[in-house]
Amino acid sequence: MIAEAKICLSCNHVFHGRADKKFCNDYCRNTHNNHLNSDGNNYVRNINHCLRRNRRILSSLLPMPHSTMAKCAKQKLHSKGFAFSYFTHTQKNKKGHTVHYCYEYGYLVLTDERVMIVRKKTNT
Ligand SMILES: [Zn+2]
Repeated sequence: MIAEAKICLSCNHVFHGRADKKFCNDYCRNTHNNHLNSDGNNYVRNINHCLRRNRRILSSLLPMPHSTMAKCAKQKLHSKGFAFSYFTHTQKNKKGHTVHYCYEYGYLVLTDERVMIVRKKTNT
């Protein structure tokens, strides 16, 4: 096979190697792969951060620590920075409405303006 001039994906230096080679050496390959992994970690970290903030916002909107549900203006969630696209899971309640949960706290859309905040009873 003919060695062709290629550009290393990690250090951007020109090297000569087989057509399928992407890096000038193992060091560059490892560096590149570690970098990819850390991007993945950042992505996971950012989402975890959103989920935890959502959970904190939901818990702050329950009037008492032992409350399990409370109605609330949807705008209130928005103004506190609630990220509606992030939740850990969904569950249908007895009436067939979908509750979006962030861990043990969740919300249920009642109308365009109002939501119901709920807390799952946990055994801990
Ligand atoms: Zn390199």
